[in-house]
Amino acid sequence: MARYRDAVCRLCRREGAKLFLKGDRCYRSSCAIEKRGTNPPGQHGAARRKMLAGYGEQLREKQKVKRIYFILEKQFRNYFEKARRQKGVTGENLLFMLERRLDNVVYRSGFSTSRRQARQLVNHGHITVNGRKVDIPSFQVKQGDVVAVKGRTVKNVHVDGAWATSTGRGRPQWLSAEGKEMAVTVSGLPRREDIDSNINEQLIVELYSK
Ligand code: SF4
Repeated sequence: MARYRDAVCRLCRREGAKLFLKGDRCYRSSCAIEKRGTNPPGQHGAARRKMLAGYGEQLREKQKVKRIYFILEKQFRNYFEKARRQKGVTGENLLFMLERRLDNVVYRSGFSTSRRQARQLVNHGHITVNGRKVDIPSFQVKQGDVVAVKGRTVKNVHVDGAWATSTGRGRPQWLSAEGKEMAVTVSGLPRREDIDSNINEQLIVELYSK
């Protein structure tokens, strides 16, 4: 499967927004967007910044969401087709499915400081759902599930550090942590207002509806 291996801060600058791809650094003044602004990367980046409309705007929005959740085109398109078949508003259905991915839940719970780090934790078998190891990042959590960090991984310096600072990054209402244990219960389902990224999902619906 093709993977993006270049500097991830370039992706933020390309989209002109903070996508929070790099963990702790995204919250510090060393963030590339804070230091260099929102112009696209490259020598002529500033000259390439232009007002987008229509197809260009829709395409950029889709790319932005794909990059936030670290998903490739084919999988993203599959999510969209599923969202379209569900009852309700297609754009919101799409975002709710992305939010309920296990790697996203690990990140939003505070076990990691970025979705990339969260995916690695899942891939390497460090995460359990209802006491059983789940190593599929796209696994969809459901209400009542308990997501936890497995065994000795709770002592991992990165995981422990992420957990200790998780309150500062904020945890959505549909995920609740009780006590000191590194575990979170899916106490509800995501609502549109819980998804804090600056996303206009209607543009994605318009793009794929052409
Ligand atoms: Fe984006 Fe984070 Fe890099 Fe800032 S530090 S540009 S938010 S990936």
